[in-house]
Order: sequence, then C-alpha cells, then structure tokens
Amino acid sequence: MIYLVEDEKNIRDLVVYTLNNTGLEAQGFPKASDFWEAVNNRIPSLVLLDIMLPDEDGLEILKKLRSKKETKKIPIVMLTAKSSEYDKVIGLDAGADDYIPKPFGMMELVARVKAHLRRAGEEEVEENGEYTAGKLVVNPAKHKVLVDGSEVTLTYKEFELLCYLLENRDVVLTRDKILSKIWGYNFDGETRTVDVHIRMLRQKLGSEGDIIETIRGIGYKISK
Ligand code: CA
Repeated sequence: MIYLVEDEKNIRDLVVYTLNNTGLEAQGFPKASDFWEAVNNRIPSLVLLDIMLPDEDGLEILKKLRSKKETKKIPIVMLTAKSSEYDKVIGLDAGADDYIPKPFGMMELVARVKAHLRRAGEEEVEENGEYTAGKLVVNPAKHKVLVDGSEVTLTYKEFELLCYLLENRDVVLTRDKILSKIWGYNFDGETRTVDVHIRMLRQKLGSEGDIIETIRGIGYKISK
C-alpha cells in the first residue's frame, strides 16, 4: 500500500487514480494527521510526500518516519512544487530516497515508484536474507518457507512463483508475465498453469494463503 500526502485535491486524485490503474494500491491524504492515523493501522510500503501542507509539512513527516523503527526504511519520495523549493530540499539532504519536481508526468512517477519498491524488496533480502509478509517467512538462499514458524514444503515452481511475487510486492503481475518469468514461455491458453500453481500455493500457505491477492482479469500480487 502506497500512501500519498498531498493537500491539492487534483494532484492527489490523479496520482492515486494513476497508481491504482497500474496495479499499485494507493491511498491519498490531504494532511499529516490523517496520514498518521492510517500509518498506525497499516505501515505503507512507500510514501509520497508533498512539502507544503496545512499542518505538518512534508519534511517534518519525513523526519518522523525516519526516526521510528517501524517506518525507518520505507522508501520516501518527495514531490516538490517549484524548482527553487526543489533545490532547497535537495540541499537539505533530508534523507528522502527521491525527489520529483512538479509538474511531473504520471509515467515518470509510476516508473520511479516501481523502481523504489523493487529496490526495497531486494534490500530486505540482502539484509536479513529473507522476505517476510504477515506470518510468512521466505528464505530464498536456503529455499525455506515458514508459516507461523512451521516449515512448508513447496515444489520448485511454487517456490519461484512465491519469490517472484514477493520481489514485486505491491505490483500486480499479469499471468503472461508470471508465465514467461517462471516457466520461460508465453502463449495464450497456458496461463491456466499459473492459476493452478497459485491455487496450490495458497493451499500450502494455509492461514497466510490469502496474502496472494487475485486481481480479477489481470493477475496476482502480494501486498502485505
Ligand atoms: Ca501543497
């Protein structure tokens, strides 16, 4: 889940709409207090921050996120209004992962957001050697999967599939994309193979099976 704090309704709606349309789940907030309430309920996988906001400004939000253990490593992208503001913010080196000057193109925003999500996923594995999602722990190097502490045995393809989804957390992967990545081929009629493996995978993951979401007519994703 991506959170956006932006007081300009037009931009907020457009960004949320665009992200949702490209398969990224996003929620927008007009001010910091609403954002913090949402963070308490669910830690986002990436945060987009406007700088000039009615209550707390984007830089203060950034500082707070960086100071808390649970939110310290979330990728944060600042949306800066003017080039002078952009220069100033860059100069401050406030610790954001990226800065996008307004006005920005939606394609560019989506590309950068996806790149940060991917990098965050890779870093998670580099640091702990494993992915976690809910009660699920996956260690790619050891080829090991735990659900609530108990080991789950997966076939090679099921394991690859699970890792591929975790690597691209929050991104909807189409059946075609999954098929060509995991099975190395891509033709219509065989996408059912993906559905069958997803079904098995969900079964084997038991209580955590529902972390794999079906995006109807498109494909699958993991977003926890
Ligand atoms: Ca603003």
